[in-house]
Amino acid sequence: MEHLTDCHTHTWYSGDGRCSVGELCATAHAKGLAVVAITDHFDYAADGGREADWDLRAEMRRRELEQARTSWADRLEVLRGIEIGQPHWNPQDSRKLANCGDFDLVIGSIHDLRPGKRIYHDYDFSTVEACDALYQQFFEEAREMLRTCDFDVFGHYDYPLRKMDTGVVPPNMERWKAHMLPFLKELAQSGVALELNTTGMRRWMGKPGGEAWILEAFRSFGGRRVTCGSDAHFPRHVGFGAREVCAILRENGFDNITVYRQRKPVELSI
Ligand SMILES: [Zn+2]
Ligand SMILES: [Zn+2]
Repeated sequence: MEHLTDCHTHTWYSGDGRCSVGELCATAHAKGLAVVAITDHFDYAADGGREADWDLRAEMRRRELEQARTSWADRLEVLRGIEIGQPHWNPQDSRKLANCGDFDLVIGSIHDLRPGKRIYHDYDFSTVEACDALYQQFFEEAREMLRTCDFDVFGHYDYPLRKMDTGVVPPNMERWKAHMLPFLKELAQSGVALELNTTGMRRWMGKPGGEAWILEAFRSFGGRRVTCGSDAHFPRHVGFGAREVCAILRENGFDNITVYRQRKPVELSI
């Protein structure tokens, strides 16, 4: 049986999210998903500073999530997650957060690079050199994150590619293979899951992550855990590309997809 899952979604408890937990769950159910994880943002600043208002938001979110889990219990599995940005900028605090007991799964992501530059807003990607330099640093920091932090899923490795639509690089990861392979090896050895983020399907890349060479390399290094994430910030994007991700996984030799319960991996058939 094919399990459709979405392990990367945002509600208005993320600064940039535009839907309630309830709307998100209703859409996930309407689209036939078996599992949805709510993974609101929590980003560290370059000096290690944490989001000041998180504790207040977390308390309200916790209550709303528990309500949703109860009311959807027999129809949709609702998982409690978080997407921690730059956890390696404060490994000690991010470990504490990841292990506070609130989460089924923790995504580790890179939205900003040292010395505190936002990939979405602070870079000019109009030259090949700029794209190359960014991805070299991205995978260096990603490897540092793997070595110093505690998280379950590495989020959207193709996040910078979303902004590289300036015509100087093709819409895939091939160009940065030499930087990505050592990262994939460490990822596989760590047991952390690789996320196939489907945002690329709605953007210039035209398809979800999961190029054949990436999945093949990850598998050859012993990697077995892959999650699917839409990165929805609006209800209409929930579950987007979930079916395509299952197909890509099957085509590349995987026979299951991973979700997490209480930070333990669970394999679901595809
Ligand atoms: Zn966001
Ligand atoms: Zn993200």
